[in-house]
Amino acid sequence: MAYLIFLGPPGAGKGTYAQRVHEILHIPHVSTGDIFRDIAKKEDELSKRIREIMERGELVPDELVNEVVKRRLSEKDCENGFILDGYPRTVNQAIFLDEYLSTVGKRLTAAILFDVPEDVVVQRLTSRRVCPKCGRIYNLVSLPPQRDELCDDCGVKLIQRDDDKEETVRHRYRVYLEKTKPVIDYYSKNNVLHVVDGTIGIENVVSKVLEIVRRGKNDTCEE
Ligand code: AMP
Repeated sequence: MAYLIFLGPPGAGKGTYAQRVHEILHIPHVSTGDIFRDIAKKEDELSKRIREIMERGELVPDELVNEVVKRRLSEKDCENGFILDGYPRTVNQAIFLDEYLSTVGKRLTAAILFDVPEDVVVQRLTSRRVCPKCGRIYNLVSLPPQRDELCDDCGVKLIQRDDDKEETVRHRYRVYLEKTKPVIDYYSKNNVLHVVDGTIGIENVVSKVLEIVRRGKNDTCEE
């Protein structure tokens, strides 16, 4: 059982690490960004509003995000653990999550912060590509597909997300600093924060995460 939060600026690699940890620990990867991208594809009023917020690189309002996350975490596959990627992004969301977990008798194993400088983030995100069919993430520099810009699994042409354009990336980084830094302080005060250098390569980062999970589980057992 591992209840994990992955924190860090956009482009820290949270999605990539979450995918690897999901494969190893068999706990679901819950990405609020992916959930909202799905909602934004629809044509109703709410979807349109979310689409506009995302295109501007702003945050979706807390009440809506909290509701969506609560619904997702109540599903059966999250019973024995999850990796939250992209949530919480505000202290309100962090408090909501703590309250929700305590009502269902669970508590966080670890909040892991992937530390990556801004210039690295900008370079990474502007070269990120996504498969529009299966959602698999690539990077033209560090994790390229085997052929041209085609998905290894689907053979579909990869796309650049609108919010990975440089101007939006820089704006998202500023929003991250302003809104999410207090979340890091919150988890630090609660003694569940672990910082991992996000520039040491995917497999090294994943090993560090697994070590933290092992230690987190031992801590729980000792109590
Ligand atoms: P991401 O892929 O995690 O960077 O998320 C893409 C976009 O979805 C963000 O720029 C926000 O507009 C929205 N979003 C995702 N997660 C959250 C969250 N926890 N709180 C508010 N907005 C979010």
